[in-house]
Amino acid sequence: MPAGVTAGMRPEVLLTFDIDWSPDWMIDEVSAMLVEGRVKSTWFVTHASPAIDRLRKRDDLFELGIHPNCLPGSSHGSNEREVMQYVKAIVPEAVSMRSHNLYQTSAFLFMAARDFGMRLESNAFLPGAPGIVTSDLRSDDIAIRRAPIFWADDLAMRDPQNTWREATTFSYAPGLKVFDFHPLHVVANANDYSRYESMKRQRSIPDWTLDFVKPYRSQGHGSAAVLKNLIAMLSGQPTLFMKELLDAEPVAAHGEISQASRQTGEVR
Ligand SMILES: [Zn+2]
Repeated sequence: MPAGVTAGMRPEVLLTFDIDWSPDWMIDEVSAMLVEGRVKSTWFVTHASPAIDRLRKRDDLFELGIHPNCLPGSSHGSNEREVMQYVKAIVPEAVSMRSHNLYQTSAFLFMAARDFGMRLESNAFLPGAPGIVTSDLRSDDIAIRRAPIFWADDLAMRDPQNTWREATTFSYAPGLKVFDFHPLHVVANANDYSRYESMKRQRSIPDWTLDFVKPYRSQGHGSAAVLKNLIAMLSGQPTLFMKELLDAEPVAAHGEISQASRQTGEVR
């Protein structure tokens, strides 16, 4: 039985993808790996395209969330509300979100929940932290569930401690493990951020072709190698969409405390 999937427990390794304006061939190439392994994943969408529509048709394997870009100069809009309107129009069914560059403020998250139906967000990054749980951020009658990221390919590239080798063995650690991949890094099996930046200087991402990417593909460790290992580990096991983390009670510390209180018979 693979790590994170213990008999009688819900699986705790979740695969997510930030689409980041990837051209369709990348989305098709990476999604084919997940179809072959029959592993569920959640894709945070930046733009409309035929490849996104193909993902939408396989709702047994792909959840579509949104990837709002609130940074200056965003093509999604000039303020947070415009950005949310833009991306929500592309994925009206979305209930899950992760911001581009993990942008967040509490006010932004509450607006996303209240006005755009977001029920789960994955913007907090706790690299390799053991025992990650979900918890609910609440304001009056608004609530949005937080599901922190455990490992991200783009941030692994910049981490001087180099977490590539550990990335798959990490999945044996206790707690929720949300892996964050980018199709543009998977297709290059990327492991070097300066190489990625040099590619981006030469050509804007939507214009990357297979022939352009091929010479830059890394051998050995890299984004694709980690993803392939995780797919092999999860294949044939029950896997989850991010939105399915809404089905369970959040496993936050205060829940454990009240559970402990009940066990000791303490009157609260
Ligand atoms: Zn992004």
